[in-house]
Order: sequence, then C-alpha cells, then structure tokens
Amino acid sequence: MSHKSHRDTTFTCRTCGTQISPHSTGTRHRNHCPRCLWSRHLDDEPGDRRIACGQPMEPIGIEVRRDGEWAIIHRCRGCGEIKTNRIAGDDHERPLLALALRPIASPAFPLDDLRPPGW
Ligand SMILES: [Zn+2]
Ligand SMILES: [Zn+2]
Repeated sequence: MSHKSHRDTTFTCRTCGTQISPHSTGTRHRNHCPRCLWSRHLDDEPGDRRIACGQPMEPIGIEVRRDGEWAIIHRCRGCGEIKTNRIAGDDHERPLLALALRPIASPAFPLDDLRPPGW
C-alpha cells in the first residue's frame, strides 16, 4: 500500500491544538498554524513534504519583503534549519505583531541611548 498524502486533510496543531484546514486565503499551502504560528519541518519547497525531519519549527521573527509582504522566519527545533514562509490571509494578527515587536519589547541595548543628545 502506498502512503496516503495528508496534504488536503484537516490536521491539529501540535503546539496549541488548533484544528487547521490546509486551505486558506492568501497561500496555496498552509504550512504553519494561524494561531500560534508554529510550523513543522516537512517541506523543502512549500507543499512538497519532502523533508523527513518533521520536528516543530519555532517562529522566531518577521521578514518584510521588498513588496511589503510579511513572511515568518521559522527555525527548526530538530535540525536548526531556518526557513521563511509567507503569512496566510487568516493568520491571527496578535501573534504576528508580537513576533514583529519582539526585538523592540526586549532590546539588546538600552533604548535611552537612541535619544538624540539634549533630550
Ligand atoms: Zn498552533
Ligand atoms: Zn528540521
């Protein structure tokens, strides 16, 4: 028996338990959870499911592309590979914003130093 593809079936996010439909607005292949934004290391190219790693991929940041589109930077908890994935139309805004603001919320240097002299 050949292995049946689960590409078009609803699956459950292993991180937060959300039921995820693979069909979403804005992307052909849902590759991350719209609620917690975690992904899994399954794709080489989006949707191909060629990677056997299968470990959870943690969202670590936001990339703003040249056309203004946002992408999520994911790092694999298993092998450490870093990939970027386009956000989907139904991704929740709060976790996206929290991700984008993370470096601002915990800066690696005192923000006071950014004030111009004389403040
Ligand atoms: Zn989730
Ligand atoms: Zn991996």
